[in-house]
Amino acid sequence: MEAPRLYSTKPVQSLKPTKKIPLEEDTGKASDALPLPLYLTNALFFTLFFSVVYFLLSRWREKIRTSTPLHVVTFSDIIAILSFLASFVYLLGFFGIDFVQSLVFQSSPDVWIAEEEDDEVLLAKEDARKVPCGQALDCSLPPLPPVAPIVTVQKVFDEKPVTVLTEEDEEIIKSVVAGTTPSYSLESKLGDCKRAAAIRREALQRLTGKSLSGLPLDGFDYESILGQCCEMPVGYVQIPVGISGPLLVNGREYSVPMATTEGCLVASTNRGCKAIHLSGGATSVLLKDGMTRAPCVRFGTAKRAADLKLYLEDPDNFETLSVVFNRSSRFGRLQGIKCAIAGKNLYIRFTCSTGDAMGMNMVSKGVQNVLDFLQTDFPDMDVIGISGNYCSDKKPAAVNWIEGRGKSVVCEATIKGDVVRKVLKTSVESLVELNMLKNLTGSAMAGALGGFNAHASNIVAAIYIATGQDPAQNVESSHCITMMEAVNDGKDLHVSVTMPSIEVGTVGGGTQLASQSACLNLLGVKGASKETPGANSRTLATIVASAVLAGELSLMSAIAAGQLVKSHMKYNRSTKDVSKASS
Ligand code: ADP
Repeated sequence: MEAPRLYSTKPVQSLKPTKKIPLEEDTGKASDALPLPLYLTNALFFTLFFSVVYFLLSRWREKIRTSTPLHVVTFSDIIAILSFLASFVYLLGFFGIDFVQSLVFQSSPDVWIAEEEDDEVLLAKEDARKVPCGQALDCSLPPLPPVAPIVTVQKVFDEKPVTVLTEEDEEIIKSVVAGTTPSYSLESKLGDCKRAAAIRREALQRLTGKSLSGLPLDGFDYESILGQCCEMPVGYVQIPVGISGPLLVNGREYSVPMATTEGCLVASTNRGCKAIHLSGGATSVLLKDGMTRAPCVRFGTAKRAADLKLYLEDPDNFETLSVVFNRSSRFGRLQGIKCAIAGKNLYIRFTCSTGDAMGMNMVSKGVQNVLDFLQTDFPDMDVIGISGNYCSDKKPAAVNWIEGRGKSVVCEATIKGDVVRKVLKTSVESLVELNMLKNLTGSAMAGALGGFNAHASNIVAAIYIATGQDPAQNVESSHCITMMEAVNDGKDLHVSVTMPSIEVGTVGGGTQLASQSACLNLLGVKGASKETPGANSRTLATIVASAVLAGELSLMSAIAAGQLVKSHMKYNRSTKDVSKASS
């Protein structure tokens, strides 16, 4: 079936305002540079203009009367002609340009002109999206306000902080510096999170003698992170968010937000999205959805540890254990228990569904319920820790690679041969060979654990940061094996990524913060799914895998075509060591 042609074949056009609205700081006029007041300068040039016109007309009439050829000019004629030109240019510059603009561009402040982009600029920039925010579920925009002029705000480097510290604040700063007031207690003492952050920041600068002027304080809602996302804030780090897409997956288009400071990454992923789109889209399938937590418990003998293992893994006991576990939440539902013994120690890996939450808190609460319950029948059980690392959270571990953690997803696409050539600038054979030697054999030689890919973690990390996921879970969420195979008599490329442990949520943690929530909204997966609890987080996992597919396609192609270093030099525009480029 022919792929829908959402990409135009023409170079993409970018929009640019024709006229800048002057800023308050930018109100200086050219006339300020004149030696005379403006009205006198204008009067002078008007007088000059009409005088020389009169003079030249009378000279012309005289020459006709005396039959003198027009090209015979005297010194005074030359002076008159030069004065005419000078005054004409001045008057045209002063009155003429605005007049012409007002005729040609009726609504000049709002006019946008299309500017042709350099065709050479990375293919990835060729986002010819027809639908602004794809078909994501809940991205209907509020009605547009009346057209307002676009104001270009100039970057002010030595901007004064908006937050002003009072004399009372000064006293508190001094007591924090002296150690009398603990820095962590500022929020509860003051009842004002923004003020607490400002005071802590100032105290920190004094204590360390280091300036934090590049770290913004204003423009952030410190109440929103209290008791949830970050303690003892002193500001926030700004990370740019770029958009890749439209990413066509399971018949829907998504504009994928990526927060990153790595030049090339968004552009490259965007190119992969284009290749997928032109080939009819990707298919992403969720295989499993269960968060895990594995406490470590110890007994006096290995026999007792084995008794508990047998009890927990006996299907007849599962229902009782589920009832106990599920009391913790409306959404946490026990799916299974898997145990591993090390002598007298038992590691119990509980797996449960967690709705739209990533689920670490939820599963931990359920596990605590079960441990409390087990103490009745196993009073000799010593709970060493609610997490015994057999979970395994934020560490590379084979258990996640083999069993899965969070969402397990497989995603595939068949990329047409001509798309591989024209968009990815390489060939099917080169990609298949590179994938075999790099992602499979090379990673095997390196003893990789879940690292059979080119740069899954690049895409995972960028989407995680943009959408408020836990970036530390990038460790296991980036486990991925990329497969490439020539199909359709070697003409086309079948590519897939299999990712067994994508840990994402659309409620809880950083997902509820304003910026992150806006990015989730763009994808149509903000918050809890009203129809089917868990649907939003599952959709997000399929998007992550599809974006990884796009990223793999593009980077592998760049390497196959020998473009990696060139494009990094172009987009990072730096002389830094390119050997550090993710590959
Ligand atoms: P996590 O377990 O990922 O750390 P939290 O436990 O902090 O997340 O956040 C989940 C909270 O959101 C729970 O209190 C849960 O009851 C609530 N919640 C509301 N709707 C949903 C939903 N659809 N799926 C999961 N949790 C939900």
